[in-house]
This record gives sequence, C-alpha cells and structure tokens, in this order.
Amino acid sequence: MNKLAFLQEDLDELKRQGLYRDLRVVDGEQKARCVIDGKEVINLSSNNYLGLTTHPRLRQAAMAAVEKFGVGSGAVRTIIGTMSMHQELEEKIARFKHTEAALVFQSGFTTNTGVIPAVVGKDDVVISDELNHASIIDGCRLSRADIKRFPHRDMDGLKKALEESQGYRRKLVITDGVFSMDGDIAPLPDIVDLAERYGAMTMVDDAHASGVLGRNGRGTVDHFDLHGRVDIQVGTLSKAIGVLGGYVAGPMVLRQWLIQRARPFLFSTSHPPAVTAACLAAFDLLLEEPQLIDRLWENARYFKAGLRELGFDTGASETPITPVIIGEGALTMRFSDRLFEEGVFAQGIAYPTVPPEKSRVRTIVAASHTRKDLDEALEIFARVGRELKII
Ligand SMILES: *Cc1c(COP(=O)(O)O)cnc(C)c1O
Repeated sequence: MNKLAFLQEDLDELKRQGLYRDLRVVDGEQKARCVIDGKEVINLSSNNYLGLTTHPRLRQAAMAAVEKFGVGSGAVRTIIGTMSMHQELEEKIARFKHTEAALVFQSGFTTNTGVIPAVVGKDDVVISDELNHASIIDGCRLSRADIKRFPHRDMDGLKKALEESQGYRRKLVITDGVFSMDGDIAPLPDIVDLAERYGAMTMVDDAHASGVLGRNGRGTVDHFDLHGRVDIQVGTLSKAIGVLGGYVAGPMVLRQWLIQRARPFLFSTSHPPAVTAACLAAFDLLLEEPQLIDRLWENARYFKAGLRELGFDTGASETPITPVIIGEGALTMRFSDRLFEEGVFAQGIAYPTVPPEKSRVRTIVAASHTRKDLDEALEIFARVGRELKII
C-alpha cells in the first residue's frame, strides 16, 4: 500500500481542472530564442532581463574563478565558507545601492526567509501588500509576528493597518518593488511617508527591479529618489543579474545582526566561486554599460504597445513584465500551449499563483530580443488570440 497514494487523487483533480503542469526542458543556453522540449521558440518567460545568463564577461569571470578557486566553498559563511570574493561582492553591492553594507544569501527566497524572522518576532507586526512574493509570505510566517495584509497598493488600507498596529513593539511594512505577476510598481514614496509617520520600519524586495529600474538598475529606491529612507532593501542575483543568489542592503547593524541570526545564512553553504565571480562581473557591467537597460525598456515599450494594439488586456503593467490576462485557468493554459506550438514560450499562470479568475500568460521581454523576435511574437499572439477568441 503506497501511503502517498492520496497525492495521485490531488494530481488527478488538477488534471481534471486543466491546471496540471509538466516541466518544460531547455536544451542549450538560456537566451532570447532557445530550444525548449526540442523546439526552437522565442523565449518570453525568462527573468534574464539583460541577457546576462550567457554574457561573455560573466562566463569568463566564472571560468577564471573555477580555475583559480575550484568549484565549491566548503562550508557555511560563519564557519569557513566566507571567501574574500564574497566580501568583495558585498562591498560592491553596498556601494551600488548607496547603503552602508550588504549581505549575500543563497537566493532571493532565502534572503526573505532569513531577514524577516531576524528583524521581527512574536511581539511584532508585519504589514504586507497582499500580492507580495511567496518568499516574503513565508518569511513573515517563520517570524511568528502578527501579519496584516493590506489590499494591493492601497494606501488607505496601509494607513488603516498602521493605525491598528500602534500597540506592537515593532512594525515592519514590506512590499515588492515591482510585482512579479502584474509588472506594476509599488507606490514607495507614499509607503515610506506613512511608515515614517507611524514609526514603522520599511522593507522593499526589488527582485524584479534590480537591474531594471533606477539609475544603472539600482532599483526602486533610486527610481523614486528615496535613498536613506528605506530601512531594508532586498534584491536577487538570479534575475537581471543573470546568475544566482539574493542580497540585503542596509545599515551596518543590519548586516552584523543577520550574520548572528539569519538562519539560511547560518545553516546553508555559501555560493561557489563561479557564482560570486559572475555576479561581480555583472555589477561592473551595469555600471559600464547602462545602455543594456535602455534597450530592455525600448523592447518592453514596443512589445507592450503591440499587445495593447491587438486588443489584449495587459493589466496594470508599467515594467518589462507584461501579463496578458485571460481570466479562466484552463483557457489560459490552452493559450500558452498553442503559443508554444506556434513558436513562442510564454508561461501560463493560474491559481494558486494568481486568483482563479485572473489567470494569465505572463510575458517578459529582454534586452537581448531583436525587433524581429518581437514582431514575430506579436504576429503569433495575434493569430492564436483570434483562434481562441481571446481578441
Ligand atoms: C523571484 C523573486 C524572489 C526569489 O528570488 P530567487 O533569487 O529566485 O530566489 C524573491 N522575491 C521576489 C519579489 C521575486 O520576484
């Protein structure tokens, strides 16, 4: 008797609802056009905003690090897993973000699950936008602080939550900088004003804003010119930076405290040399070649305008993340599958990632897409959209 047989029933239910997903497999490089499940398609689903996953400078840096330092770091950071290059990367990130200090984690996910429980606990409250990323939600739960969710980007809702939170020891307001499913930007200046008024700390997770928004891709704090007013900035090294990892940037006391208490930092091995070296090269590139970011935005504007002209609902998107909102989950998955057959990979996203009636195909263009890639993708969207009577 298989004690896990109940999982089969749950899987069958997903299949009945048309929401079951198999993993698509990429052969070869992660690029603007890539081979997925043996078929060449235009890739509109990667977070590789600037095309850095295959950039020659990052490759070279990674290979040189392997030659010089080997492939593994051997331990967690607090034992013997801190290499001089780890520190160098953290100093570079702090300078880039205009903060006193930074600390790198294994991923953006572990940054949130490490930072939040280290800063707040059971006598405290976290006030969180309802559409914040799963890693923020998990970080909040792990902290055992009370959690108050405010309606998405709703400043009256935030104000009400702050008013109701006066009795707590510490208050922490958390928001995504750019929301990963809708591509809209947090109203950070208003959030910061309110938090200051109520004596709350602020934390922004710029996973989708790092390398995308602000001067040289410094993120939402720079975009809104709020330097010095956001207490904790989280970013990822896995999206526009093109490699793997997460980081937190803020005051030196935050870094020092996280080294004592952030559990993924304490209990999971640090990055191998190749990862760290490639990240170092990526930050140099952001500083030296900001035209990559200009190119990303040109492509994003062009593609978004094209989708809107065709009559697709692109929601509230203001960034290179452009959802095409379909509504029903099964139709969304069918749309995504048909796009794939015609040569475009745009991932269908349904419940539980988004509300059931807001299912969508999410597109993300990159700096590395050519105009020809985008025109061809728009032509395929038009054809499949008409076939399925979406437009
Ligand atoms: C992608 C994402 C993360 C996770 O980052 P990884 O480096 O992939 O673990 C965290 N927060 C937000 C808002 C994200 O979009």
